[in-house]
Amino acid sequence: MTEQTSESEKHPPEAGTTGGGREPLTIFMHWCKGCGICIDLCPHQVFTADRDGKPLITSPEKCTQCAICWLHCPDLAIISNEK
Ligand code: SF4
Ligand code: SF4
Repeated sequence: MTEQTSESEKHPPEAGTTGGGREPLTIFMHWCKGCGICIDLCPHQVFTADRDGKPLITSPEKCTQCAICWLHCPDLAIISNEK
């Protein structure tokens, strides 16, 4: 009797990320009030709103580090991971 382990069990997707590499930003969700400013102002549609209106980084590869989101967040809930 042999136990087989599938590839997905050996290498599960990384928790808390959208997959595929390093996130361009860190969002402190406990500071975010879900105002949606960052989602509306991002020129490259990096974010998608979750059910509370808080930003999920769904297209990290599109982020140009333009700084608009973190400069306009009223709660200082976004920081860059690259600057
Ligand atoms: S830094 Fe600019 S491109 Fe990147 S998520 Fe923020 S607003 Fe969008
Ligand atoms: S601008 Fe700041 S407080 Fe508003 S949704 Fe984005 S991260 Fe949250």
